[in-house]
Amino acid sequence: MKVVINGIHANLRFSSAHMIPGHQFCGGIHGHSYHVDVQVDGERCGEFGFVVDFKKVKDLMRDLCAELDHKVLIPLESDDIRFNNLEGSVDFSIRAKGYSLPLEDCCLLPIKSTSAEELAEYFAGKLYKSLKEDENTSEIKIDSVQVCVNEGIGQGAYFEIKD
Ligand SMILES: [Zn+2]
Repeated sequence: MKVVINGIHANLRFSSAHMIPGHQFCGGIHGHSYHVDVQVDGERCGEFGFVVDFKKVKDLMRDLCAELDHKVLIPLESDDIRFNNLEGSVDFSIRAKGYSLPLEDCCLLPIKSTSAEELAEYFAGKLYKSLKEDENTSEIKIDSVQVCVNEGIGQGAYFEIKD
């Protein structure tokens, strides 16, 4: 059975700035109000017959969203960004453009790009790992998680992780 959490209605949201190096329209720093939809597929277990407690998933996702909220998203594994410093300030260049941002204003992410696609894979991986770890201590049995990171309303990228 699958449980579904709608990011707008359940308040799984964050607002962040990013850039997509080299892209004609998205190459400059700009922002989005993101929301994250989540589905968890698994067996109904335990005293209440839940797949997973909604609150557990919402708390995990809200913590992840909070790390990115009101930050400039920086993809540390980008092939297009040359980092010069990551202590105190984040100094980097993208082709001829140089950037220097306060570290506290940035969220450094272990991903290649801050596209919706990469963010969906990042969130799905984090959520899946957390829920699988919980299989040891609580009565849940998860088969897959699906995460859709929406860049505003009407467009998003969906990623699924299965056993
Ligand atoms: Zn964008």
